[in-house]
Amino acid sequence: MTVTRFAPSPTGYLHVGNLRTALFNFLITRKAGGTFILRLDDTDPERSRQEYADAIKEDLEWLGLAWDRVERQSDRLDRYAGAADALRAAGRLYECFETPGELDLKRRKQLGMGRPPVYDRAALALSDTQRAELRAERGPGHWRFKLDHERIEWDDGILGRISIDAASVSDPVLIRGDGQVLYTLASVVDDTEMGVTHVVRGSDHVTNTATQIQIIRALGGTVPSFAHHSLLTGPQGEALSKRLGTLSLRDLRAQGVEPMALLSLMARLGSSQPVELASTIDELVDGFDIAQFGSAPTKFDVNDLFPLTARRLHTLPLAAVAGDVAALGVPDALAPRFWDVVRDNITVRSDMADWWALFRDGARQPEIEEADREFVAEALELLPEPPYDENTWAEWTAAVRERTGRKGKSLFMPLRKAVTGMSRGPEMADVMPLLQKKPG
Ligand code: GLU
Repeated sequence: MTVTRFAPSPTGYLHVGNLRTALFNFLITRKAGGTFILRLDDTDPERSRQEYADAIKEDLEWLGLAWDRVERQSDRLDRYAGAADALRAAGRLYECFETPGELDLKRRKQLGMGRPPVYDRAALALSDTQRAELRAERGPGHWRFKLDHERIEWDDGILGRISIDAASVSDPVLIRGDGQVLYTLASVVDDTEMGVTHVVRGSDHVTNTATQIQIIRALGGTVPSFAHHSLLTGPQGEALSKRLGTLSLRDLRAQGVEPMALLSLMARLGSSQPVELASTIDELVDGFDIAQFGSAPTKFDVNDLFPLTARRLHTLPLAAVAGDVAALGVPDALAPRFWDVVRDNITVRSDMADWWALFRDGARQPEIEEADREFVAEALELLPEPPYDENTWAEWTAAVRERTGRKGKSLFMPLRKAVTGMSRGPEMADVMPLLQKKPG
């Protein structure tokens, strides 16, 4: 059985980059059958907030990415302590006392000598007495995992065969001086104990994966399959990291992006398969194939979401928007016709409001050409008061033609503008029955 997890830290709102991770894990699980775990990586008590945890759930619910189970790392601290003890007993965890400033100095020296800034393992050479002295002087140290200096290799579901020389990587800190367990260890303990079979995450985690594979083995766990997706860039290939704050899922929701538009784009962007608007999540599940994704950075343009959103709205039945339509004050009896007319003429749901204002109150400032003013005034005299029906437009324009002799575009266009304030839009035969007031 496939077990995956989406493991955001509740230290901020989810953005499009996180969504990619969540969606890939979700789709893999739904396709294979299995369990999709929402894991809140909240071991950092200063930065983790309940409001972000709630927001993460709300955003996933909005998208329809249902999880089977929630886990919180803060509930599992005793498990991590147990794993740390096991690593200590196996001689794989060692205490270090360097301050951040000292570490920084070491790194700069190494770089100055043209060497990679890898931790020099000075703490391994400390005697028991020296350690006791340092502990008395500086307080408890932080704990590093002692990597085996060998090549760490795996077949990545996206990147292919990966081989990393462990000697080129610093021994990772797993426990801070204040006792806080870091993600690198907590994640391994969870993945192992929860039977996670597939880990999909961003390519910024590739080095973590190398060290985590060794930690998993040291703890006697089974190494899951790993796949690292490329990171998103802006449309010009520029780094997106700074702008991700404005590309939060809640911002996109507030801008009117439809969930299925967003999911359809993210399920295909960066793959060799074309983006297609899906109508259900099941369709996305069927068409998903992680092997189709490439390792190159993936360009994301928020503007691509709006044509997809418009197309999604065109396909929606009234039932899917009935709440929004009713909230505008559209009478129930008019709702089906209103939605039929409006759905092909909006980009986002909230555009409906302008249409209803137009039907309810009339066009605000119809731009009538000088040469048409008299004609329009005369035509409006021939239009009775509402209610109108689907024959009104034909009957009215026939009467106006008879009276004025105008026909074709010079007949219809000024009248369309007089009624809607626009030179293009829905069929006038469909518009007339929606008017709550006589135009003019
Ligand atoms: N909390 C980690 C992150 O958000 C999870 C990474 C992982 O999937 O292991 O980057």
